[in-house]
Amino acid sequence: MKPLAEITLGRPRPFLEDEGNGDAGAPTLDGKPVDPDELAAELEPLSARELIEWAFERFGTDGLKFAVSFQKTSSVIIDIAHSINPDARFFYLDTDLLFPETYATRDRLAERYGIEFERYAGISLEEQERLHGANLWRRQPDACCGIRKVEPMREALSDASCWVSGIRRSDSQTRAGAPKFAWDRRFGLWKLNPLADWTEQQVWNHIQENSVPYNPLHDRGYPSIGCTHCTMPAAGESRDGRWFGLDKTECGING
Ligand code: SF4
Repeated sequence: MKPLAEITLGRPRPFLEDEGNGDAGAPTLDGKPVDPDELAAELEPLSARELIEWAFERFGTDGLKFAVSFQKTSSVIIDIAHSINPDARFFYLDTDLLFPETYATRDRLAERYGIEFERYAGISLEEQERLHGANLWRRQPDACCGIRKVEPMREALSDASCWVSGIRRSDSQTRAGAPKFAWDRRFGLWKLNPLADWTEQQVWNHIQENSVPYNPLHDRGYPSIGCTHCTMPAAGESRDGRWFGLDKTECGING
């Protein structure tokens, strides 16, 4: 495995062809086109901790933002990232439709680590209904996710060079090939998936061994937790309880 110090991609903050937020062109570093697949292959052997250490070194505290959903993987990432850098920036997308247990988990994590989670939200539910009618999540869930998640996500990432996600390859078929580091074309910046190769057991081992606060809905049959309208209990580790009965598996942030 290559030492962390040897995996250097140039200056602390990459120059991006489209230095903003949006569907940027090819990723560049130091003004030169780079192949994200080659970088991902180089970083693949690194552990979650090593990846996050590397990302802090590469993008700096301000350039790296951690997206958290207050599910079990968020608990792990918060615990690791905060132990490396207590000034790490964490944010969440508040759809105004999260479970009370999720908000309570946010508060427990904030208290345990002394974190001020940055909150991003779209228009109010009342405004959404006025503009698009009632129950948009039932009629057009992609549009609802676009308003309540994707647009706030663009705002959240507007001052970042790299964001960190808690997705794992075992989450679903669509995530099975997720690299640990990638160029995120949708949002126009780099993306780190430090838990990509973690198993469900590893996640729980880390939570238990470090007494990390976690969302109690996981103990009540919810392997994956999103908005109240679109989340149900499900078997095993699957994301089948999300958008149950619909041909929809992602909200548009991770795929
Ligand atoms: S998960 Fe459901 S309620 Fe939440 S933003 Fe998406 S469609 Fe809307």
